Amino acid sequence: MTSYFRPNINTMAGYVPGEQPKPGTKIIKLNTNENPYPPSPAAIAVLRNLDSEWLRRYPDPYANDFRRAVSEVLDVPTDWIMVGNGSDDILNVIIRACAEIGRKVVYPMPTYVLYRTLAEIQPAERIEIPYGEKYHLPMEELVAANGAVTFIASPNSPSGHVVPIDTLRELASRLSGILVVDEAYVDFANETALPLVKEFEQVIVVRTLSKGYALAGLRLGFGIANPKLLSGLFKVKDSYNIDAIACAVGTAAMRDQDYKNACAEKVKASRATLMGDLKQLGFQIRDSQTNFLLAQPPQNNAEQIYLALKERGILVRYFNQPGLTDKLRITVGTDEQNQMLIEALLHLV
Ligand SMILES: *Cc1c(COP(=O)(O)O)cnc(C)c1O
Repeated sequence: MTSYFRPNINTMAGYVPGEQPKPGTKIIKLNTNENPYPPSPAAIAVLRNLDSEWLRRYPDPYANDFRRAVSEVLDVPTDWIMVGNGSDDILNVIIRACAEIGRKVVYPMPTYVLYRTLAEIQPAERIEIPYGEKYHLPMEELVAANGAVTFIASPNSPSGHVVPIDTLRELASRLSGILVVDEAYVDFANETALPLVKEFEQVIVVRTLSKGYALAGLRLGFGIANPKLLSGLFKVKDSYNIDAIACAVGTAAMRDQDYKNACAEKVKASRATLMGDLKQLGFQIRDSQTNFLLAQPPQNNAEQIYLALKERGILVRYFNQPGLTDKLRITVGTDEQNQMLIEALLHLV
């Protein structure tokens, strides 16, 4: 039988996002790492006062207002910044610009599943290298794999660990292809690899407003890299990939660092409490520099607990993937939400 699709599209599974119940549904949603706090009041004020003229016209193709805000906050020149429709858009552009059959996509596992999906769509050859129990970066294997694109999520999902900048520096110095450091969770971490973009032309650091800035629904992310690297990526992105609303609202959120940092501090404090409470219940948990915890229940019955919590209106993430079937990824909510989770777990473990 003939198919409408290319062979790689027929054989791939497709990315399966975490469950997204309708807003207003009475549910405690700890499954896709959203911020439990609302976005910056300054950003919401911009949204309320939006001039409809912005919607009549095409938006700025480079989202320059937002780039200027990022430039001031992170002290990088504006032409080192590329803005995306979520950081997923930046990851997609990188793969489209750099990978194909014979130009490999490489990453340690387990990590963000979208890297695989994007490589499958392209299609590009994938090299997946296991992290192993202790989550040390498999340096020699990553270098030997010789990727056109190497993805490192740091902090990583679902493990929550950070790859130290010195390790990433060594990796960058030994790779000839692009090194993508995906810092989606950097706002909850103690370190960043951002200085590497000034040391290495082929390093791009990717960030998002979805987690730290509580704007997952807005779809805004950005990459920071040498303009030589960005020049190729700009050719591939959609002309108007940032809508006018996202640019205006995101700019206000970016300029309100105090609010973002205050929310992140609250999440980090709640993370410590939740970790202690889960350990009390017998869960094994790794330290996390993110807004989630990867927790292994005492009886290793992760799927059963996931389903039982769902029945009680609490969503957490269960991954039916090698090495993860005995664990749950739990987003840190408000203290109140976390307490309700703990109370539900009291009956289940
Ligand atoms: C959430 C997440 C993203 C996606 O962010 P968006 O900006 O919402 O597209 C990228 N990478 C990792 C590792 C994530 O967890």
